[in-house]
Amino acid sequence: MIDTKLIKMEDNEALALEMAAKIWKTGGLVAFPTETVYGLGANGLDAQAATKIYAAKGRPSDNPLILHIAQKEQVSPLVREINKAGKQLMDAFWPGPLTLIFPKADCVPYKTTGGLDTVAIRMPSHPQARKLLKEVQLPIAAPSANLSGRPSPTTAEHVWEDMNGRIELIVDGGAVGIGVESTIVDLTEGIPTILRPGYITKEMLETVVGEVKIDPAIMGVLCPDIHPKAPGMKYRHYAPKAPVTLVEGKMDAVIRFINEQIQERGVNTVGVIATEETKEQYQGGIVKCIGSRSDMESVAHNLYDVLRSFDATNVSIIYSESFSEEKFGQAVMNRLKKAAGQQMIHL
Ligand code: AMP
Ligand code: MG
Repeated sequence: MIDTKLIKMEDNEALALEMAAKIWKTGGLVAFPTETVYGLGANGLDAQAATKIYAAKGRPSDNPLILHIAQKEQVSPLVREINKAGKQLMDAFWPGPLTLIFPKADCVPYKTTGGLDTVAIRMPSHPQARKLLKEVQLPIAAPSANLSGRPSPTTAEHVWEDMNGRIELIVDGGAVGIGVESTIVDLTEGIPTILRPGYITKEMLETVVGEVKIDPAIMGVLCPDIHPKAPGMKYRHYAPKAPVTLVEGKMDAVIRFINEQIQERGVNTVGVIATEETKEQYQGGIVKCIGSRSDMESVAHNLYDVLRSFDATNVSIIYSESFSEEKFGQAVMNRLKKAAGQQMIHL
């Protein structure tokens, strides 16, 4: 077991930068805040360091890691080609919550890319992430800093819950802003294709590069003949300990159905993911408000914290309201469907 240190970056920035850079340069693991979720970082050019990430998370080794950089100039040594769409998207959305997939250069180990010939790269905008990455001057491979299958961490406390004893350092930068992982866009096969929805929507991408496709595996039920191109998307994910069921339909019917379940199963055993607009209408149950239906950014921001917070209760099942899949709603619904392991009720 590793003696995990936690340092608040605002308390001692110089020390946090020095400690993180030293650990990364010697092959260790540091969790750090980004604008999407907390990342679990290691030197992305060191195959052994990347292997430690998989071990700490319990992550399947075919699930590739995203390289995080501080400056756009760091991209070209990591890739074989940056095409026109790649240049346009980097200029429009970096630094920011957009991950781009390029053909990989030889210097990127297959351990980092899960055996793929492509590499995922992102330049985060979070000021503390940028300082850490600038200080170390290495591409930092970083998946979300949660145990595999658990909701992604949006606070340093979440990281501590999952990673204490498994990594050298947690840099605490407070709660993250966006709360769901980056949009992933594949640039390696003609028309840019969204492999994972996030804050940067299809509409936003299209204003910059014209036509953008969406990987069919993103929203639907996974069939044996549809293989997601982001390998991570095939796993059950983002899940609290109690099973989640997503309830879709007219709001009145959804509330009635969930209230019936509370009556039948008992008030303390049913969790409810409700919204500002509906939370008063549940009769019993452990009701958690995820945000306002008129503000999907609030819903995304609270999503993983709400999912995790049920672990401190005795609920044996969680019912969640569902949301429109328009724009940023697509990213939220993608995560909720994965948390539900495709357990959905249509009313
Ligand atoms: P995480 O960092 O935990 O959000 O996971 C990284 C996500 O990026 C996973 O869903 C991976 O499957 C995806 N990813 C990383 N590299 C690639 C790549 N080269 N091609 C496709 N998807 C990738
Ligand atoms: Mg993850």
